[in-house]
Amino acid sequence: MSNPKTRRAQTIIKPDRDRRFVTEDNPFEAMMSRFDDAARRLNLEPGLYKVLRSPEKQIIVSVPIVRDSGEIEVFTGIRVLHNTSRGPAKGGIRFDMAVTLDEVKALAAWMTWKCAVVNLPFGGGKGGVICDPTTMSVGELERLTRRYTAELMETLGPDSDVPAPDVNTNERVMAWIMDTYSMRVGHTVTAVVTGKPIEMGGSLGRRDATGRGCLVVTKEALARLEIPIDKATVAVQGFGNVGSTAARLMAAEGMRIVAVSDKKGGIHDPSGIDIPAALEWVKEHRFLEGFPGAKSVTNEELLTLKCDVLVPAALENVITSKNAAQIKARIICEGANGPTTARADAILDKKGIFVIPDILANAGGVTVSYFEWVQDRGGYFWDEETVNERLEKIMSKAFTEVVGMAEKHEVGMRIGAYMLAIERVAAMHRMRGLYA
Ligand code: GLU
Repeated sequence: MSNPKTRRAQTIIKPDRDRRFVTEDNPFEAMMSRFDDAARRLNLEPGLYKVLRSPEKQIIVSVPIVRDSGEIEVFTGIRVLHNTSRGPAKGGIRFDMAVTLDEVKALAAWMTWKCAVVNLPFGGGKGGVICDPTTMSVGELERLTRRYTAELMETLGPDSDVPAPDVNTNERVMAWIMDTYSMRVGHTVTAVVTGKPIEMGGSLGRRDATGRGCLVVTKEALARLEIPIDKATVAVQGFGNVGSTAARLMAAEGMRIVAVSDKKGGIHDPSGIDIPAALEWVKEHRFLEGFPGAKSVTNEELLTLKCDVLVPAALENVITSKNAAQIKARIICEGANGPTTARADAILDKKGIFVIPDILANAGGVTVSYFEWVQDRGGYFWDEETVNERLEKIMSKAFTEVVGMAEKHEVGMRIGAYMLAIERVAAMHRMRGLYA
């Protein structure tokens, strides 16, 4: 919750003039303050600085649908294309009540940096519809998705803007987008979205890709800190696609998962949680609550548990100036987008915690999205082993490049990742020049 005093101040003071008055939980400011820091260290030209700070396109559309009751309801849909200098805008679509233009702008910019960190030929975009999908039927969700897609026809396309799943959207939603787009252009275009069902041009390995990427970079970090994999203990916040996959794959590699949580709360067992059994439990009971043999912990407590690796893989703004000093992990692997606030960064840095920033840690998802797009366009599909091998190679290389940048400029991993990304996007702008 933001404090009303600072909130009022924010409305009268330009956020980038005086950061002391900016609310800690505004994701756009969280992204921008890191961008500013990295841009300053890179001595970015003032003109380019202005260009990269501004999203290319911000689209807000009304999405009217007929509810099952026969009533008409109008939702608000957003799509932001932050930067497309390196290729089509790439980034997910979320269905959530918390969606705001500021949040989508931040997430779109994060996608630009994320794609650049792993060196994909993509720019960054993000979309969202302000809605509560838990109160909607499948039919209503389908109508919402199709109308939102129809409203975005101007920007969508395999060469211009390629969505993917994000919070509360999945393969089925991607299938509806693909179908709506294809019907509108008159032929099947599988490459207009990624994260589709395998049968309709999805990629093997896409579902596990973000969690697998987290595993790859965590192993790299453990090696750097000389912590043996089979001695490493891990706490994972979030048991959705990213958190549960990361926990499952890390456990399969011999790490001990001491805590996991979902939105209701978490379970803790210092001797290690049987992750396949926890997955079975959730399949049957929906939540981790009541899992036999483990103590319950709150999501807040989980973050400060004793462990080697902390994986925040749920929401934004969970590691803040209020709890960062209590974190005991030696490595933080950011499975979620924006789990750490800019103010918490300074505290984590001072404590010497090795942070694998979101734009690197969770880039496995968009990397396999890129593979999916390549396979769709080539009409030739790879086996899962090839996907995983190529994913691992890209993630490891990006990790090494971020470490190199951080060491060269004597900054933490986060600013190192931003510097690497901004440098790549800026290089493209310099070569292309300004179109007038
Ligand atoms: N929504 C995911 C992310 O935040 C995936 C984006 C994509 O694959 O385009 O990285």
